[in-house]
Amino acid sequence: MSRLATILAAAACALAVFAVTLGTGVGAPAGEPTAAARATDVPKPRTDWDPIPYGKGRKRQMANYSQRHYGDRTWRLRNPKVIVLHYTATATYGPVHNAFAANTPSLGEKPGVCSQFVVDKDGTIHQLTRLEVRCRHTIGLNQTSIGIEMVQEGRSGKHGADRAILGRKKQIRAATKLTAWLKQRYRIGMRNVIGHSMANDSRYFKDLEGWRNDHVDWLRGDVRKYRKIVAKVIRKHR
Ligand SMILES: [Zn+2]
Repeated sequence: MSRLATILAAAACALAVFAVTLGTGVGAPAGEPTAAARATDVPKPRTDWDPIPYGKGRKRQMANYSQRHYGDRTWRLRNPKVIVLHYTATATYGPVHNAFAANTPSLGEKPGVCSQFVVDKDGTIHQLTRLEVRCRHTIGLNQTSIGIEMVQEGRSGKHGADRAILGRKKQIRAATKLTAWLKQRYRIGMRNVIGHSMANDSRYFKDLEGWRNDHVDWLRGDVRKYRKIVAKVIRKHR
């Protein structure tokens, strides 16, 4: 298995779905929560609705995964407490969508990996599942987190990939706007906007099978810089 395949399959930077009735194209999926937004809240950024298949079978797999790892048999994501940042280890978006849609077992278990959002290098925000659907993107936190993948190749050096994203204006602007909107919508504290590399230390981390993350995407120091930009986006909307 290539490094990319390993990363996409095992590293679980996202999950997949079958959306026969969800429609396609630009716009928001039907049935999204419409929590009362305050006038000072950051508006929802424009997103490209590009759903992966997430039908009955995958929902059942996600519910069973949740039972094994979290002790609650459900595929629904309610009141998420954490936003987890990732990068794709790919140069483009296409293979990521395909990998998440494929529903290939990861670490020997179904469903396959996915994430709710993927932010492309040009700033396009792709939404791959409804917000109230669990995705396998971070061991120990899938029951209570939203995953945001950013398109970025692996780089040499521990911080190389994170910093490439931080330096890519359109992408970082889109990702931080998305984060600011989600953070306010769900009242998520800034300390719970974390990188995948920080997941094992989250107060919300839970895995009944003893699984742990071994990922190094979005290191703590780079996440601090990211949080500062999110804070700035929020300040600008007050
Ligand atoms: Zn990751």
